Amino acid sequence: MTVTRARTLGFCPGVRRAVETAERAAARAAGSGSSGFVLGQIVHNPRVSARLAGLGMETIDDPDDASGRLAGATVVIRSHGAAPEVLERLRAAGADVVDATCPRVAANQKAAAAYAARGYLVVIAGDKGHGETLGVAGHAPGAVIVSSAAEAASAPTDRPLALIAQTTVSEAEYEAVRDALRSRRPDLIDVGGVCAASRERRAAVEELAGEVDAVVVVGGRNSANTRRLAELAASLGVPAWHVENAAEIPDELGRYERVGLSAGASTPDEDIDEAEARLLELGLAASRA
Ligand code: SF4
Repeated sequence: MTVTRARTLGFCPGVRRAVETAERAAARAAGSGSSGFVLGQIVHNPRVSARLAGLGMETIDDPDDASGRLAGATVVIRSHGAAPEVLERLRAAGADVVDATCPRVAANQKAAAAYAARGYLVVIAGDKGHGETLGVAGHAPGAVIVSSAAEAASAPTDRPLALIAQTTVSEAEYEAVRDALRSRRPDLIDVGGVCAASRERRAAVEELAGEVDAVVVVGGRNSANTRRLAELAASLGVPAWHVENAAEIPDELGRYERVGLSAGASTPDEDIDEAEARLLELGLAASRA
């Protein structure tokens, strides 16, 4: 078996920055004897979360989860960002907020706030309930999150619209929502906001799919961008697996001659290395059988 890695895979710059920021914050909190928290899973990857927990960082979903323990504590805001109201609650409780919001996400938050202030209804094309979309919506009072063209058909259009992307949606998803909205509001402002790092990972999977017999995408089960990479590979007609770690790679992969390996933007190098090693082992076992 040969295993070919996608030319771009794994940690994107925003995630790497957030994880490194959180590790430094953990060291500082430990050094000063104060508590350390991360607001939401730092990235959608269990290994990274476990490593930070080992450094003493507790993950909380809401400031209320650490009620009474925030004064003097360090709280890291993950790459997905957070709503301003949440940051205010943390600061009001006396927390030292370390903002690791990805600059790309922060740019979308800023655009959302600016258009809302000018009277636009901000529409976010992306996953409902995702930390990033909720955070961007928090910057634009009244914003709505739309996950498909079908949903866009029933979005309110009584005000001019400004459409912003969740950074990890595909261009196709974004454009489908945009076109559905534009048919109802031709004056829609197309802000965009899909991240180049996501685009590069998708383009790399598209290339890979043409060169291999099967694709394995490694990443957290709740990682939206990992799921999208696996769906993309499958949509190109290649058998594709989304696994969270090497142990989840099924034995049947051993029968493929050429396997492509990709990983979501929140997947650390160790997970990728272990997945590659497991695939090569399966290939060897299959060749001996
Ligand atoms: S995918 Fe892009 S926007 Fe999201 S964290 Fe990575 S670099 Fe930032």
